[in-house]
Amino acid sequence: MICSEYHGVWVFAEQTDGRLSTVSLELLGKGRDLANSLNTQLSAIFLGSRIETMAHELIHYGAEKVYVADEPNLGSYTTGAYTSVIAKQVLESKPEIMLFGASDIGRDLAPRVAKRLGTGLTADCTELAIEKESGLLLSTKPGYGSSMMYTFVCAQSRPQMATVRPSVMQALEKDTKRKGQIIHIPVRLEATDMPVKIVNRVKQARKGAKLEEARIIVGAGMGVGSAEKFAVIHQLAEALGAEVGVTKDPLDEGWITGDCMIGQTGKTVKPELYIACGISGAIQHISGIWDSDTIVAINTDPRADIFGIADYGIVGDLHEVLPMLIEEINKRRRV
Ligand code: FAD
Repeated sequence: MICSEYHGVWVFAEQTDGRLSTVSLELLGKGRDLANSLNTQLSAIFLGSRIETMAHELIHYGAEKVYVADEPNLGSYTTGAYTSVIAKQVLESKPEIMLFGASDIGRDLAPRVAKRLGTGLTADCTELAIEKESGLLLSTKPGYGSSMMYTFVCAQSRPQMATVRPSVMQALEKDTKRKGQIIHIPVRLEATDMPVKIVNRVKQARKGAKLEEARIIVGAGMGVGSAEKFAVIHQLAEALGAEVGVTKDPLDEGWITGDCMIGQTGKTVKPELYIACGISGAIQHISGIWDSDTIVAINTDPRADIFGIADYGIVGDLHEVLPMLIEEINKRRRV
């Protein structure tokens, strides 16, 4: 592999049911920065069925070129078909950087593509930059089980690949005057590319906003004490019109179920208000709430790390503090 033959920044643009994922637009925003630093082009690769109109949308969000693979077999995501199409196109076009969202699809697809191409992948990044001297991509992510952030480079293979957490990067303002080029990729899928057939898709019913989009989140940790005692967390969320998010440990304990873990291996959130109840402030949790506008922490331990990042701290037992808070909120709502 001759690294100097690889040029350009690519973003895998993800769609489901005809909706572009927000993280793809965020990646185009970051990709624009990286491409500017390298004085190169920003492109998107976009797979699906009947997606031409959406491809133009990617240009409005900053892509200069959009490689479109439009085929009925690509209508719903399957690992084999998407890996095959992307890997072939990358081998032909040779981008030097390739970014995926750390979404369910991105987390499944990016490692497969990296393996197929024989290159490296840094997963779940929270920061990306270009090293001035070398022009290499610096991919930063929180370390597993430690309080350190680590920066990785992929010096000897191309493309340099990374998955990036949703809600971390900033999308550009949509500008319908942006011009770009749509390039249709010929799709040739073999039976071996499609070992899996989607027979049926069932949408999970969800009430309320997605955690990533929630304005207010009540975060709950081990300090809650038990599954039964979670009632007070839900009551506060209801009083505030908030969503409930948790640390890893209450989920592991089975105190609560669902797709509501926040942090390094969970979701990244950026609400206007995050109320951390009985949460110690481990880096694996904090890395998911950095971008909250205001953080309020309630904890019995005045030395808890969460107070280090909280805008307001209440030292106290959440089972005493929250009922008072709920009563006060409900009282004001009645006025
Ligand atoms: P604890 O650390 O046990 O803290 C409980 C807190 O509650 C304490 O500070 C205590 O003082 C306080 N408290 C106790 N009783 C009360 C009370 N009555 N009222 C008020 N406060 C009280 N964690 C995540 O959250 N998200 C992740 O994505 C994640 N990924 C991980 C990945 C790896 C590879 C590993 C190893 C760990 C990961 N973790 C993650 C776990 C993380 O390291 C911590 O264990 C976890 O965040 C701690 O959760 P906690 O704050 O709820 O519990």
